[in-house]
Amino acid sequence: MNQEILINARGLLGGLTPMLTDCGQLCGAACCRPDEDGQGGVYLFPGEEALLEPCAWGRVGPSPFTPMLTCEAPCDRERRPLACRIFPLTPVRGKSGRWTVRMDARARAMCPLVRSGIGGLDPDFVRAARDALRLIARDPEGDAFLEKWAALEEEYRRPLW
Ligand code: SF4
Ligand code: SF4
Repeated sequence: MNQEILINARGLLGGLTPMLTDCGQLCGAACCRPDEDGQGGVYLFPGEEALLEPCAWGRVGPSPFTPMLTCEAPCDRERRPLACRIFPLTPVRGKSGRWTVRMDARARAMCPLVRSGIGGLDPDFVRAARDALRLIARDPEGDAFLEKWAALEEEYRRPLW
């Protein structure tokens, strides 16, 4: 997808986090740790892999959906992927047809912020995440990626919610 759009979308969340304080202190940065078997990780948007090279803190591998970054050490935050920047939110198409956000089903297993819902997050963060996804959707490949992600998210939610 258009790299400028991707970079600008990442930039919208550059200085924002879900809470005004470091939420990683609540959970030991649970969302940055791989699964027990060393798998799992962060979905990369189309073309984002190139922005991670070289990556000293993790490895990019295949997944059935999209290339995935699995981290083995704390990252260079300036270079963290867009999916990290919006977590624990995930894309969903709203009733109006525009992209918006909701809590990521995968966050339920690890993220203490899920309990308070979107209303418990910093509103500037939520707004920026929504704006970033709408920017991504201006690119046809980005929009198609969001569709695939939202469909996968539905699968995750089915047995859980
Ligand atoms: S799991 Fe949730 S609370 Fe913990 S660092 Fe990630 S987003 Fe913050
Ligand atoms: S890139 Fe950074 S924020 Fe994202 S999972 Fe890895 S360590 Fe965590």
